[in-house]
Formats: sequence, C-alpha cells, structure tokens
Amino acid sequence: MKIHEYQGKEIFRKYNIAVPNGVVTTTADEAGAIYTKLGKSVAVVKAQIHAGGRGKGGGVKLAKSADEAKAHAKAILGMMLKTPQTGPEGQLVKTILVEEGSDILHEYYVGITLDRRLSKPVMMVSTEGGMDIEEVAEKHPEKILKETIEPALGLQRFQASRLAYGLGFEGDMAKQAINILIALWNCYDGEDCSLMEINPLISTKDGKVMALDAKVNFDDNATYRHPDQVGLRDEAEEDPLEVEASKYNLNYVRLDGTVGCMVNGAGLAMGTMDIIKYAGASPANFLDVGGGANVTTVTNGFKIILSDPNVKAIFVNIFGGIVRCDRIANGIIEAAKNVKITVPLVVRLAGTNAEEAKEILLKSGIPLQVADGLKDGAEKVVQAIGK
Ligand code: GDP
Ligand code: MN
Repeated sequence: MKIHEYQGKEIFRKYNIAVPNGVVTTTADEAGAIYTKLGKSVAVVKAQIHAGGRGKGGGVKLAKSADEAKAHAKAILGMMLKTPQTGPEGQLVKTILVEEGSDILHEYYVGITLDRRLSKPVMMVSTEGGMDIEEVAEKHPEKILKETIEPALGLQRFQASRLAYGLGFEGDMAKQAINILIALWNCYDGEDCSLMEINPLISTKDGKVMALDAKVNFDDNATYRHPDQVGLRDEAEEDPLEVEASKYNLNYVRLDGTVGCMVNGAGLAMGTMDIIKYAGASPANFLDVGGGANVTTVTNGFKIILSDPNVKAIFVNIFGGIVRCDRIANGIIEAAKNVKITVPLVVRLAGTNAEEAKEILLKSGIPLQVADGLKDGAEKVVQAIGK
C-alpha cells in the first residue's frame, strides 16, 4: 500500500527522523495562511499524489510570500499532474503540503527495500540525490553504496557509519546522518514497509540533515499488525477496479492489454499471461480467483474483468485439483447467467473430471469456446479478438 508524502513524514516524526515543519491543506486560502504561520521567508507548496517525479511535472513550487503560496496552491490544486510515474492523463491533485523552505547544501538519495536475491533488506545511498536516481543507477552504479541488513540484527551502527562517511559527511553532520539512517531502518522495520525512499535527504547550510521527501510503501500482508495504517489509505489514488476487486478478495492487477484473464493460482495466472503474449496478444489483467473458484468468485471475476473497457475477450484458465472441473463448469454457467458476457469467452479446464466439464460447458448453450490445453486456449482467445 502506498501513502502520501505528508503521511510518510508524520510517521518519520514518530521515529525521530528530522523533516521540515509543514501543514497539509486542500484550499488555496489556507495555503496562504500556512505560509504566514510557518514564519519563514520561503515555503514550498507540494502536490500530494502517490506518484513521484512531481518536481518535474510542476507539482513542487517555492513561494516567497503568502500571496505567492496562495497562487501556487491555486494552480496546483485541481490540476492533472503528469509525471513519469503517472499515467498519460496524469493524476488529480486534491491535497497539498505547505512546508517551510530549506536552504539546501546537497541532495542525497536513501532507499531501503527487499533484495529478493539475498532475501534480506538492503539500504542504498547515493550522493546523486534529487530527481534522477533511476538514471544514476543505470549509468553510474558505482555511485550507489549498499549495505545488506541482517533482519534479525537490523542496520548496525558500523554499517550506517560506513554509508554516512561514504556519502562524504563529516563531524556533527555525519553523526546526524548516521542517526537518521538507523532511524529510517527502525521505521522500515517497525512499520513493515516494502519500500522506503528519501529523495532527497538533504544537508542544509545551517548544518542540519533532514528528509525532504518521503516515499513509504507498506507490505499489505502485515496490515493486520498495524490497524492505524488502514486509515492512511487513499482509494482515490488507486485504480478503481483494483479497489473494487480487493473488496471481493480477488487478487487483481490491471494491465494494459485486451485479453481478460481469470485463473486460479498465481503461478498459473503468470503462465497464462505469458502464453497470451506468445500467442500474439496482451493480457488486460492478472486475476487469481484463488483455490475455491466457486460461483461467487467467478461472478465477481467476470464483473471486474468486464468493467475494463479495453477487454476484447476473456480467457478462463482453471485447474481443478481440489475442486472438480465439473463443479467449476457449473459455476461458470451460473456466473454467466448473473453477468452478461459481452465479449468472446474461451474456457480451459484441466484436472479432475475435465472431460465431463467440457461436455457440460458445450451443452450449456452459453456462447463460449472450450480449449484443449493452454496453448490451444491462448490461440483461440487471440483469434477471437481478431489478431
Ligand atoms: P518529487 O519530484 O516528487 O520527488 O518531489 P520532491 O519532494 O523530491 O521535490 C523535488 C525537488 O524540489 C527536490 O529534489 C528539491 O530540489 C526541490 N525542493 C523541495 N523542497 C525544497 C525546499 O524546501 N527548498 C528548495 N530549495 N528546494 C526544494
Ligand atoms: Mn523526491
């Protein structure tokens, strides 16, 4: 789950990570008042959306007076902010953060995520912070320093020191940087994050080190341990179909292709998407309906898939292991009565009673094609969309 920058900074404060003072608002008038209340000559008006790259898209502006803060707020609120991380249509800005300006000496990058190869968290830092860290990683990987974290021990002080001195920090600022890096790890660990990025972490001309940006993603599997995280969710930032699917307990991820997929099991769903690609089309979604694949889940699955206007055909690929295929076939027929299926439908059932299931489907009178195997199914569905 993603959260907004201002929410990430609230959490940072709890872990003693220095961040600028700021107040969040949804109106331009209030932005002017916040500028005055902050009492600094420069304030920053920052769009709050779940995508990064806001600076480049015009979503981060400096203001030197209350009127200027108000004017920036007016321009940013309600805009469709386009950044390399939003869709081409951009993301609507409903909230802004008005923060005291910082006198930046240098911008650094800090990230923590899971290194899946090592099965351990890794902290990465770079002197090349600011807006283009992806490019640094690609062209100058030597400019990124890493420490692998032993999860049971956490980030050790010597590791934080190595990173801080590696970034060129000295004296009291090195001490601040070390403490921030350790606190960031404590936050990542304590909140069960899957990703945390501070870009930029800054040093200021008056000798401070602080987090100027906060990207915090929580691991959804751990939400039950953090009831307070539930309230931080902003569904307006998420794909509406994914929000809907999560209400039905379906594992659905929207993609940009035209073949809607309904599959049981994540591995089979991945394989199904691959074979659709091989057959010459693209999947419109990942959808794992789980082991049960009963009338309710299949009905909800059809509803979600058909809500996506890009879907030109549906491929149902279900392996009947614990649930017999004949029961799944009847489930599909029931579901097809509940939901009007407006596009070609190809069904491949494999496993226990697959032959019987095929008969049931063919006799049902529902316009569908039954596939013999995965390859045949993918080819049939690609043919159905006329590719
Ligand atoms: P992002 O583009 O979505 O990652 O948004 P950031 O919060 O990282 O802001 C983008 C850039 O705006 C930063 O890299 C800074 O260069 C600049 N910026 C943000 N806050 C301040 C500030 O208080 N003072 C100054 N001078 N620049 C700032
Ligand atoms: Mn940033």
